[in-house]
Amino acid sequence: MDHFLYKNGHLHAEDVAVRDIAAEVGAPFYLYSTATLTRHFRLFDEALDGMDHLVCFAMKSNSNQAIIKLLADLGAGMDVVSGGEYLRAKAAGVPGDRIVFSGVGKTRAEMQLALEGGIRQFNVESEPEMLVLSEVATSLGSTAPVTVRVNPDVDAKTHEKIATGKSENKFGIPISRAREVYAEAAALPGIDVIGIDVHIGSQLTQLEPFELAFTKVAELTQELRADGHDIRRLDLGGGLGIPYERSNEAPPLPIEFGQLVKRTVGHLGCEIEIEPGRLISGNAGIMVSEVIYVKSGEDREFLIIDAAMNDLIRPAMYSAYHDIIPVEEPKPGIEPARYDIVGPVCESGDTFAKQRIMPPVGPGDLIAFRSAGAYGAVMSSEYNSRPLIPEVLVHGDQFAVIRPRPTFDEMINRDTIPQWL
Ligand SMILES: *Cc1c(COP(=O)(O)O)cnc(C)c1O
Repeated sequence: MDHFLYKNGHLHAEDVAVRDIAAEVGAPFYLYSTATLTRHFRLFDEALDGMDHLVCFAMKSNSNQAIIKLLADLGAGMDVVSGGEYLRAKAAGVPGDRIVFSGVGKTRAEMQLALEGGIRQFNVESEPEMLVLSEVATSLGSTAPVTVRVNPDVDAKTHEKIATGKSENKFGIPISRAREVYAEAAALPGIDVIGIDVHIGSQLTQLEPFELAFTKVAELTQELRADGHDIRRLDLGGGLGIPYERSNEAPPLPIEFGQLVKRTVGHLGCEIEIEPGRLISGNAGIMVSEVIYVKSGEDREFLIIDAAMNDLIRPAMYSAYHDIIPVEEPKPGIEPARYDIVGPVCESGDTFAKQRIMPPVGPGDLIAFRSAGAYGAVMSSEYNSRPLIPEVLVHGDQFAVIRPRPTFDEMINRDTIPQWL
């Protein structure tokens, strides 16, 4: 469920007409709903009710300061994957003890940043990383709280670019070697081993892979405890998928995910962390774009719009599907049209949809890409010297620009010309 609905013939975000925002901000832009973000966070929080838990929002899905602050105010922790994300979380007021640091390639500088600024735990992904973290912590006179990310060799049954839990993926240490690695970790002076971490991929549409992974983590917890480790926290990662295509079967709900967590690891008495990104932010955002031209090709019509692959790369990168709807509600009974929906960038990859059946639209009309709140704005670039598009947040009948569009001068003046030229 989200809060982007037609009212009186116009698409609204909560109580604001999308066309009114477009008139003020100019297309294209991202638009997020406070009510949807709040609802999705609460669904996860309530799904883990009765367990000691923290829902850490995966900031890589959407790292705007306003979104972080909104979720942190609801009680969310943050899952960060870089020094930049760590500093973004801190800048939005998230205390260090609610920030979890994930990622396969943490640098010494990033470790130091987090140790000095405060951190809930590092999710360590390799032995070399463990050694370096111990050194950095020791040199600062501190100890780093650590969970080790294990790779359970489970097929997440998702797109290959976002599957992370198979043995061929770069993530974590093989679960078969976990006892050895925990023994090494326990002997290191700068490391305090507190738990286990697992994250098997993104956009999972079934519970079964989670069930396999969490069951393996539960077994490992007992083995490691028998080896003398005080395993008291389980980070079960993110990855629950969202319905991008409304006509398809919906993925499992957070409540079902929560029941699975309770069933598989509930008996262990561990504190539970989860790291959802997409399910919190994905359907809480749309991208609004304006039609520039409708061009007739040999055998098809091209809808040429003012957003491009640099603004929303998911279709080009993962062949991702987004529902695309007109901002003005089509009249009932109107004959649908069929378009290839493309942007202005000079690459054929700049195609959002092929042979898409949707209500007819024309130049100047606004269209909305649904489910664009996750891995949208954060993955955008200024390719083709197209300035980053603005982000807008709606709250009831109010809206605010939460990242303005840079001016052409701001974009150009980021470069400097050396004095010898
Ligand atoms: C990407 C990622 C997440 C979030 O995944 P979603 O599919 O957006 O829920 C959580 N944890 C880690 C370690 C990740 O890399």
